[in-house]
Amino acid sequence: MFTACVTFICAACSHNAITGRNQLSLVSEEQVQVLAQKEYLNFLSANHVVSSASSKDAEMVTRVGTRIANAITQYYKEKGLTNELEGYKWEFNLVDSKEVNAWCMPGGKVVVYTGILPVTQNEAALAIVLGHEITHAVAGHGRERMSQGMLAENIQNAGNMVLGNNPQAVNVFNSVYGPGAPLLVLLPNSRKQELEADHYGLIFAAMAGYNPQEAINFWKRMANLGGEKPPAFLSDHPSDADRIQKLQALMPEALGYYKPVTK
Ligand SMILES: [Zn+2]
Repeated sequence: MFTACVTFICAACSHNAITGRNQLSLVSEEQVQVLAQKEYLNFLSANHVVSSASSKDAEMVTRVGTRIANAITQYYKEKGLTNELEGYKWEFNLVDSKEVNAWCMPGGKVVVYTGILPVTQNEAALAIVLGHEITHAVAGHGRERMSQGMLAENIQNAGNMVLGNNPQAVNVFNSVYGPGAPLLVLLPNSRKQELEADHYGLIFAAMAGYNPQEAINFWKRMANLGGEKPPAFLSDHPSDADRIQKLQALMPEALGYYKPVTK
């Protein structure tokens, strides 16, 4: 039985083109993108989206996000991996909410909450947040977590099944992509995913013209937030001395990609 189980898991793995790590893959990128598009629209209609026409902050979110997306597109192109970004149609929205949070769904559907802007304080730190969150999406981290969740709950995915038609699969999707989902920290590889998101997020922010060293200041500000309940952003992103030490170790590589934005 054990052998059969191991064979099953290997057959359901995919090799990540960027990180080189094998990931459990019970759902296809195409399937999660279809579901993400639907859930993204649901989220936007249930929340107050700040218009770029009337808000400098919303304009900034779009500007920084677009630069990060362009950097990622360039990075993948240089590695001959453009097909990995198939189906990506980038969207950046600022949502009016006190929550300290930001996320990116598969297919490039990004939300920044106004509550995180007092912590980012500047465009470079916002670029760090977006670089990190978008890396989770392009590196298929959500799909990996969703696959782990489906395995844990014994949910079958038959071939090209439309995930939206399976309420159990939709529940797992929401528990993975929903803000502050507690499931995330408990899953295997969550630490690896965090390090990968920090690593490539720094590179993408630097390529987009933002100083990657702002990551250190940003995570220190996150760590100092305090309050009764940690912000949703932290439930997924433990902010500790260990992270800052790892970021510092990654900094020389990221700085090699850094060309400041010329305005
Ligand atoms: Zn993260």
